[in-house]
Amino acid sequence: MRVNPSLTSRLRIAFVVLLLLLGAVSFLGVGRLFQIRVNYEDDLTRYFQVEVQSERLRSAFILEQAAARPATPHQKPNPAALNQAAKSFSDGVARAQDLIGDNADLTNRLNRLVASETGWRTSVGAPLVRGEVPGPGVERRLTAAVTASAESLATGARDSQDDARSKARRDTRNTMYLVIVGLLGAVVAVMILFFGLINSMRAPLERLVQGARRLAGGNLKTRVEVGGPVEIAALGTAFNDMADSLERDARERDRVEQMKDDFVLTVSHELRTPVTVVKGFAEMLTEQRRSLNARQYEAAEVIAESAGQLQKMINDLLDLARSDAGKLRIESRPTSVRSLAQRIGRQMRPHFEEREQRLTVSVEKNLPEVEADPDRIGQVLANLLTNANKYSPEGASVRLAASRVGDEIEFAVTDDGPGLGADELDHVFERFWRAESGETQSVGGTGLGLAIAKSLVELHGGAISANSTPGEGATFRFVLPIAKDGRRAPQRTARRTKKAGVAR
Ligand code: ADP
Repeated sequence: MRVNPSLTSRLRIAFVVLLLLLGAVSFLGVGRLFQIRVNYEDDLTRYFQVEVQSERLRSAFILEQAAARPATPHQKPNPAALNQAAKSFSDGVARAQDLIGDNADLTNRLNRLVASETGWRTSVGAPLVRGEVPGPGVERRLTAAVTASAESLATGARDSQDDARSKARRDTRNTMYLVIVGLLGAVVAVMILFFGLINSMRAPLERLVQGARRLAGGNLKTRVEVGGPVEIAALGTAFNDMADSLERDARERDRVEQMKDDFVLTVSHELRTPVTVVKGFAEMLTEQRRSLNARQYEAAEVIAESAGQLQKMINDLLDLARSDAGKLRIESRPTSVRSLAQRIGRQMRPHFEEREQRLTVSVEKNLPEVEADPDRIGQVLANLLTNANKYSPEGASVRLAASRVGDEIEFAVTDDGPGLGADELDHVFERFWRAESGETQSVGGTGLGLAIAKSLVELHGGAISANSTPGEGATFRFVLPIAKDGRRAPQRTARRTKKAGVAR
């Protein structure tokens, strides 16, 4: 079974480990320092007592000397006092041995003292008590040996005190080093734990960030590998659930969109025939003017006009629905820009003349052919010119221009009509959007023309845009790719400016 503790458990474990390690290091360190201190004090006391004991032994030896050699010549040596002093010396030795313990140096010194004192007692004390006088040199030598040994024991005890002090200092220093090493070890252990914790979170979090970016970029198939601490794993699972639900919603949305497109396509298609029939009959009636009275004629005209608008709207809707369904076919071929622009200019001119507007068609010299379906691009140009014609006031100037921009041909329709505000420009290519201004509302329209223009230009691999200064007019421009195997336009002077507006 794979254990996967939660983040909080991992943090808790890390803190407990840190506390245990710090506690252990502190406990051992402080215990050891305490022990060093106690040992030091014990040793100091012990060696001080050994020093005191050496003084006692020296005093006992002086008493032995006094018992063996009385202060005045008429006094006799006192064997009982000598024995008493010798016993006191032996007791002192026993006590000193206890205190010295396993200190070899002091044991040697004590043994030397005992040996020299025994030598003195055998060769000097005992003969004196028996009334024999030892040789003067012998007594002086042996007495000096005992005194020197006692002094040596006292010196040894003092040296041992110094040694104990140095040892305590050394041990304290070493213990401090050990404690520092232990603390550093604890910190390193906890850092390893924390880094492990962070590492265990980093990879799954990184996967989540990448996944979120891919999802935000529109790849709804994105899923992340679930892993890491429980909380991060839960986040990963939630992310995958969210991606599932988004994908489900997107599928459902696509399905509904598809149904809607199919519906619009079918309805538009079905409406086209009856509307064409109605328009045809209405037009037929208007042609029979003589057999109609004025009201009937007017009604027939209204029916024909309305049927025409309806037919245009149905055609626009059909185009958009086909474009959405990917069924809008364009047949691109190398197309002469000049011929196209002039043809559309010619077709549109009557509308401009009707409103006493001036239309100029200007095509740059030597333009290469564009890769385009001439009917569809003609439709785009007609839509843009129709708008310029509709929304600009009578007497306005409109210009259709074509020029080369890099590897593309740019078409631009410019008018000096009312123009559009910045926030209106944001919506101008949206379906069914129409400006709320009085100028727009007073003119008929469906809000579909620019949406169709956009989708047709994009189908050609081009791009369309609009800019405008309100009150000063608007320019709609789009670019198309130059035909790869197209021809250059023949070298002849273009009729750059064509006066199309006719002042009546
Ligand atoms: P329609 O002309 O049928 O309303 P369009 O899609 O062609 O639909 O245009 C959308 C809207 O953009 C128009 O209703 C109008 O408000 C605005 N518009 C388009 N062309 C111009 C223009 N040349 N000058 C000012 N406004 C325009």
